[in-house]
Amino acid sequence: MAEGIWFVAEQRDGQLRKVSFEVASTARRLADQAGTSVAGILIGAGLDGVAEKLGTYGADKVFVVNDEAVGQYLPMAYTQIIANIVKENSPAVLILSASTQGKDLSARLAARLGVGLAMDCIELGLNDDKKLVAKRPIYAGKAVAEVLPLGAPQMATTRPNVMPLLEPDESKKPEIVNQPLGLDPAEFKTKVVDILKDTSGKIELTEADIIVSGGRGMKGPENYNILEELADLLGAAVGASRSAVDAGWRPQTDQVGQTGKVVSPNLYIACGISGAIQHLAGMSSSKVIVAVNKDPEAPIFQKADYGVVADLFDAVPLMTQELKKVLEE
Ligand SMILES: Cc1cc2nc3c(=O)[nH]c(=O)nc-3n(C[C@H](O)[C@H](O)[C@H](O)COP(=O)(O)OP(=O)(O)OC[C@H]3O[C@@H](n4cnc5c(N)ncnc54)[C@H](O)[C@@H]3O)c2cc1C
Repeated sequence: MAEGIWFVAEQRDGQLRKVSFEVASTARRLADQAGTSVAGILIGAGLDGVAEKLGTYGADKVFVVNDEAVGQYLPMAYTQIIANIVKENSPAVLILSASTQGKDLSARLAARLGVGLAMDCIELGLNDDKKLVAKRPIYAGKAVAEVLPLGAPQMATTRPNVMPLLEPDESKKPEIVNQPLGLDPAEFKTKVVDILKDTSGKIELTEADIIVSGGRGMKGPENYNILEELADLLGAAVGASRSAVDAGWRPQTDQVGQTGKVVSPNLYIACGISGAIQHLAGMSSSKVIVAVNKDPEAPIFQKADYGVVADLFDAVPLMTQELKKVLEE
């Protein structure tokens, strides 16, 4: 019988990513409701002692594949390895993050296992039969669908930065199950030949705690320096609306929204952004939204927790100035 709530952890360069703690915490919360155990799967290289940390976020057991051949994410190899472990152990639920890697991996895995998948969920719970019920935004965030993923395991991915983290319990040590690679690297269909790291030092949008975003109201690329100054003080990333990207003011990688990145920071400051539904689709799950717009009727104010009706060229430098004072105190 399918048993246990499982998750797939993510690492980069042998370091666990925050999304790993999010899926572990979510699995623990569900397992406590269901009265069952939590197990994780971690694949990578240089992982000695790394998986233990997952125990502090609720994992009872972690299956670790620690091999140079899979140090970097390889879609087909990772799918095969996880599918093999899952088939041998029959978990009831399998949770991944809806990170870039998780979206790719979960879709492949669901197809390989022949089960359904609830993608990019903002809430996971159990029904009276202890079956996983997932809530996910649909129609660019206009509605939320409640989904019962079919098959065993029931699979879901969770939107990064949305699922609350458990308070880590340093006394908890998970059982580590070292799994052999079980595949011949010579038969891998893909290999990573080089990784070009972003050397700009910019904070990745999807991982940022705070985002300062600018739209068409910025009037030109040269004016983003006022957002960058504020962002630097806050330790924030700078985002943009599609209008700003289409105008060539900002790179596509900065775009937030339906056809850009989906972000859920603790604080999202939207400057000169009207709040079109396609933009909201990418940021409406932010914990606190601040909007600066000179039009009091702008739709963004319906979503914002705090609204500043003002010319952004006055308001943003003032915010920066006040923040500097606070930080200097
Ligand atoms: C299929 C599809 C996918 C899309 N995907 C995305 C997406 O991923 N992301 C996205 O953002 N959009 C997306 N869009 C576009 C979206 O519909 C909007 O056109 C876009 O979000 C508008 O960008 P904006 O708010 O910057 O510009 P506008 O709608 O032009 O708004 C500019 C705002 O700036 C304010 N403003 C102007 N000057 C100032 C000033 N000096 N001070 C303060 N406020 C000022 C104005 O009052 C206005 O509210 C998509 C559209 C389609 C059809």
